[in-house]
Order: sequence, then C-alpha cells, then structure tokens
Amino acid sequence: MNDRIQNMRDIQHFGEEGGVVPVIDVAATSTFLNPLDMEKAFHGELDGCYLYSRHSNPSVSAFGKKFAALEGTGAALGVSSGMAAIHAVLDQWTSAGEHIVASRTIYGGTWALLKNHLPRRGVETTFVDINDLAAVEAAIRPSTRVLFTETLANPLLNMSNLASLGALAKRRGIRLLVDNTFTPVLITPADHGADAVIHSCTKYISGASDLIAGVIAGPPGLIQSLTDINTGSVMLTGPVMDPRIAHELYLRLDHLPVRMAAHSAHALTLATRMEENRIPVFYPGLESHPQHALMKRHLNPGYGFGGMLTIDCVTSKKAMELARELQDVKFGLYAVSLGFSRTLMSCPSVSTSSEIPESDQKAMQLSPGLLRLSIGFTGTVETAWSRFISTYRKVFGNL
Ligand code: PLP
Repeated sequence: MNDRIQNMRDIQHFGEEGGVVPVIDVAATSTFLNPLDMEKAFHGELDGCYLYSRHSNPSVSAFGKKFAALEGTGAALGVSSGMAAIHAVLDQWTSAGEHIVASRTIYGGTWALLKNHLPRRGVETTFVDINDLAAVEAAIRPSTRVLFTETLANPLLNMSNLASLGALAKRRGIRLLVDNTFTPVLITPADHGADAVIHSCTKYISGASDLIAGVIAGPPGLIQSLTDINTGSVMLTGPVMDPRIAHELYLRLDHLPVRMAAHSAHALTLATRMEENRIPVFYPGLESHPQHALMKRHLNPGYGFGGMLTIDCVTSKKAMELARELQDVKFGLYAVSLGFSRTLMSCPSVSTSSEIPESDQKAMQLSPGLLRLSIGFTGTVETAWSRFISTYRKVFGNL
C-alpha cells in the first residue's frame, strides 16, 4: 500500500505558470481550431482533447488519475455524490430482467435504491448475510450480474470477506462492486478481487463535511463506458463532479493517509478504554470484534482500523440522551455523516438506516439504541476521553 500512496503522491499536475498545484479548469466547453477535429472527438477518434464538461474536464480528470493511483485501479471518475457513484455503476452493469445480490447490512440510502428504485426499471436485488458464503452462492441466479457490499458496513461495522467474495464472483462470472467509504487508504478492495470500487467522497475524502461528492474507481473500460456519448450512464444521466470540487478533493488526497491514521489512533484509544470500562463498544480494532482478524488480513499496514465505532445504548431514547449530553460537553456533534475532522454522532435506527423497515433492521440485528460515532482527531484524546467517561457515567450511572 505504501507503494500506492507513493504512486498517488507522484501524480503531479502543475499550474499554467508553473504553480505547484494545478489550476481549476471551470470551462463548460472547449474550442476546436479546426471544426473537423470536433467531429473526430465526438466519435472518440481524437485522444487528449476536451469537448464538453459533462463528458470530461481537466480538473475532474486530474482528480480521477490521482484517485485511481490510490485505489490501484486503471482509472477513476469523480461524480456528484456517493449515491450517484453507486447508481451509475449498477445502471451501467444491469438491464431490465437482471439481478443483484447485495449485503443486507448497508447504508440505508443504498438499501432503498436497491429495494425501491432499481425494481422500477426491472432490476431486482436479493439481500443476504454477506459473510455467509453459502447464502451468497445460493442467492445467485443465471440473471445475476453484480455482487454488492460495503467493506466495513454502515452502521454495523461488520467487515466483508472481500477476498472470498472476489473469488466467488470470479468463479460465478459476476462482478463485485465494493463501497469503500468507511475505509479509504486502510483497505484496497481491488487487491482482493473487486471489479469496481466506489466512495462517498462526502466523508473521509473530503474530511471537512463541506461538500457532497462521489468517485468510481475501476478498469479504464468501465470508466470509458460510463462516459460513452451513446450509452454511458454518467454521460446520459448527468451526475458529474463540479471541477471546483474535483480540485478541492485533488488537494485533500495528499493528506488523506495522515488523516486516516489520526482517526484510527483516536478511535482505538477511546474504544480500548470504553471496553476496559465495560461499555458495550464495537470497534474492529478490538480483538472482541468478530471480524478483527479478518479485517487485519485485509488491512494495508500503518493506518489502523479506521475511525468508526458504535455503542449499544439499547433504546434510541437513551442513545439520543447520551449524544445530547456528549454534544453539550463538546465531545462531538449530533449529526449524520462521518469522516469529519471532529467527532460526529448519530442513531442509525432513526436516521441513516430509517429507510430500512423495523423488521429488516431486526433481521440484520441493528439495535434501536445503537449510537454510531465517527471519531475525529481534533483536540487531545485525553480531553475527549475525560469528557466521554464523565458523561457516560452521568447518563448510565457508575459502571
Ligand atoms: N455509501 C455509504 C457507506 C454511505 O455512508 C453514504 C452516505 O452516508 C453513501 C454511500 C452515500 O453518499 P452521498 O451522501 O455522498 O451520496
């Protein structure tokens, strides 16, 4: 992985006057000195030129090149949101009458896309326990085209066995699409058999909770197909990345590895102390996590186990009470989303997983009182811990 970070670092684009960063190319359209060249460009017969920003843009391409180096894929395409990234790939890879097998423990928005939206154009999904390989295998039909999972699931933090899923997908001739939003830098799904990887850049890749964006990393053929002027899902439905956002993210990729290591270090310290204090904490960096060893096998060394942890408060009322008190002492902010430099807290059963009906939440063992914490790295971890433990004791009594 360190090679990947080095490769990403070695991608360099300069400003027009030799600036150490590239300029932002905001042009929606580009001129052709020779009108005949435009015709060739439309037919894909002229490389290295830009036509129109919904098709391609220099700032978006620069971000894509740097991101592809990080994910170890041949290419990458920035899009307008994480949902746009998932939708674009599934739209490109499936047609009416075809089928998807997906993990049942995924972000609520993705669950609703698969359950409610894609069936409207004839694509059905079977949800399974993604680490029950026999169940995954049994769900595959002749019409199955895609196997979808999240590396580390939102919000339950169960780790997918990417290596096994990659091998299974290959054997059965279907494609593995992985949402790596919770674990950029830490895990490289393409190394474990993923055919394409998406991220919500809104989260860790932004790191500042100030924008909505997504990215698709995959082989050049996939990225070309997405931007094909006749059949490309991104080209024809239009969820493109704004060049100003592409430029921001291009710069932020440089410190993503440092930020991920800092999130992981704070989260591990807090989770370890919570466990020592018999708080029902769930964190993949703890040996008590059922997939601790599995995650370790997939990790790129040196960046830890990530910044996400959960605490089971049994009821949503209690989870919200704890979060409100923690917000009052400035431990964190009660807000959805994750990957911000500061700690964010939310109760998924009534927010980011509320699209999933109660019966399905039960089946996936999502506790109504689960409090999800995206641990930030600002401030000292000692202050964070003392604020946390005194507040926890106030809400739950002495342990
Ligand atoms: N994937 C995961 C794992 C997420 O948590 C989210 C949003 O919370 C998304 C995808 C969707 O991303 P966006 O909000 O950027 O569309």
